[in-house]
Amino acid sequence: MKMVFLGAPGVGKGTQAQLLSEKHGWRHISTGELLRAAVTAETPLGLKAKAAMDSGDLVADDIILGLIDEALENLTEPGFVLDGFPRNLSQAEALDAMLTARGTSLERVVLLKADREEVLRRLAGRGRSDDMPETIQHRFDVYEQTTKPLIGYYEKQGVLTRVDGVGGIDDIHQRIQSALGVA
Ligand code: AMP
Repeated sequence: MKMVFLGAPGVGKGTQAQLLSEKHGWRHISTGELLRAAVTAETPLGLKAKAAMDSGDLVADDIILGLIDEALENLTEPGFVLDGFPRNLSQAEALDAMLTARGTSLERVVLLKADREEVLRRLAGRGRSDDMPETIQHRFDVYEQTTKPLIGYYEKQGVLTRVDGVGGIDDIHQRIQSALGVA
């Protein structure tokens, strides 16, 4: 399975991507996690990305695409679950190009949906440094303006599936599995 999780900040993409990839032996690729590791290790890439992350802005595409290209190049698992990438149209187009160059393509994009209240509740419990109220609001705005157009992009490609992201972790996991036909 080659798939993407799409959805607002705090909707549970990371949790569900990890569960799903662990269960099936696919690779979980989270650009946010890769970036946070680079920031903690104070690598040149981490130092470049830190300011944008702290303010809830997107990190430059060339940095992100480098991370994805490296992950795809080193892929040994029979599939991958992308979480937090792509986040804008140029990243989505670049991903298509990278996959085409490797003779493959995306199979599914799961759009996780939850209302704003639920998402805010989850973010409040997470305690990440970019989960301050003002930064959260900005990250929602970035999602609305920049990431949401990907819904139409993937709908056109015929790969988009919407899944209700409200409820217990295991229930949502089961819904995703049935939506993917891997239950
Ligand atoms: P996340 O863990 O996916 O919420 O990402 C945390 C932060 O990392 C985001 O607010 C962005 O600053 C940055 N980031 C993660 N993924 C991307 C991406 N695909 N493109 C640009 N910035 C990203």
